[in-house]
Amino acid sequence: MLALTLTDHGPIARHDWPTPIPSPGQALIRVRVAGICATDLQLLAGYKGGYRGVLGHEFAGEVVDAPGAQQWIGRRVVGEINIGCGACDLCRRGLSKHCRARRTLGIHKWDGAFADFLLLPLENLHAIPDSVPDEAAVFVEPLAASLQILEQVQIAPSSRVVVLGDGRLGLLVAQVLATTACQLTVIGRTPAKLEIVAQRGVHTLLASDERALAQLSTVGADVVVEVTGSPAGFALARRLLRPAGVLVLKSTFAGNLADFDASSLVVDEVTLLGSRCGPFAPALRLLADGRIDTASLIHARYPLNDAVAGLEHAARKGVLKVLIVP
Ligand SMILES: [Zn+2]
Ligand SMILES: [Zn+2]
Repeated sequence: MLALTLTDHGPIARHDWPTPIPSPGQALIRVRVAGICATDLQLLAGYKGGYRGVLGHEFAGEVVDAPGAQQWIGRRVVGEINIGCGACDLCRRGLSKHCRARRTLGIHKWDGAFADFLLLPLENLHAIPDSVPDEAAVFVEPLAASLQILEQVQIAPSSRVVVLGDGRLGLLVAQVLATTACQLTVIGRTPAKLEIVAQRGVHTLLASDERALAQLSTVGADVVVEVTGSPAGFALARRLLRPAGVLVLKSTFAGNLADFDASSLVVDEVTLLGSRCGPFAPALRLLADGRIDTASLIHARYPLNDAVAGLEHAARKGVLKVLIVP
């Protein structure tokens, strides 16, 4: 089959990659569409100590083989990306996404979605409702990651919440948080991208609007969600948070936080909250109800055999979602 693999020499499209063979309990899935996210670009840059294999973890596909589970065959599915061992102490406590022997689709020790086919355990699969097209379903993984914030922090209509970052994930986080009717402000650098959520009634600010930022920081937000992944974003998030507030870190930092002032977190009793993968079922419900605009986030589509160009496109400044179509 055709697959985009990450090698010592960078990403290479291979036509001779072996089609995986499902064991009982697994499904062979034909990928219908896959999405490029910041994690893929970080893996290309060498983040997380050298993943080697097929890239890609955001996909919508169709089950073509499932030994002993014929009922899945022909169904359109999305899949959770963490594959736990099922036996370690964390898996037994229901924390399989933190499994001590964890493998992760297209990220760690498990071939991913930029390929004609992929394998996943049946328990990772969620059927896509008929009303949700593939190009919306492909957003389920980052949308679920956005919903994870609501699993972790209580956000009420009276909560003042800031989302920092108007990239691929930031615009999904903003739309998910807007469903709570909280007092939401989204801060970003690109007017055209902020416009996508502004059209849905979300208050937006340019990161260069120093006067507005100063005003915002005098009151301070109850919750700030950092989705820029940059040290400058972290510093601004810190500035906009009120004492005893919650700072949610939603994107991995490519570098280190050099000027990390830990004592100010102590004095202000700030809660720092890491937030990663989230629940797929409610993400699919939001898509089925048409409550999330995903179409505006799609900037380009590339055929799988041209996926390297797609990755280059996705890495350009200001580009949102680039899709890979096998
Ligand atoms: Zn992702
Ligand atoms: Zn485990």
